[in-house]
Amino acid sequence: MDNDNSNNSLCYYCGREIADPNSAYKKALYKKIGWDTGSGFKKGEVSIGGIRYKVNEISVPRCKKCKKTQANGCWLIWLPPLLFSIAIIVLNFKDKNWIWC
Ligand SMILES: [Zn+2]
Repeated sequence: MDNDNSNNSLCYYCGREIADPNSAYKKALYKKIGWDTGSGFKKGEVSIGGIRYKVNEISVPRCKKCKKTQANGCWLIWLPPLLFSIAIIVLNFKDKNWIWC
């Protein structure tokens, strides 16, 4: 993803406010690398149930206002980021080793 315009991109949710980097909606993706051999871990790698995963974080631009609104807990607001994430996976991660965690 392009980090250069992350500071002034518009909020994905309302499309009006400038997105606040600290308010971005973040979602971790885990990519299966192989079996956990117990050594040689690199930064950003975790072991879950004996299998080693590489952790990749995606972030959706969001403004402070929307973060506050979404913190109030309406489940419908999770639909856009979910669809957004699925679209990203379909477009960029055709590798079947990507899973949700
Ligand atoms: Zn917003």
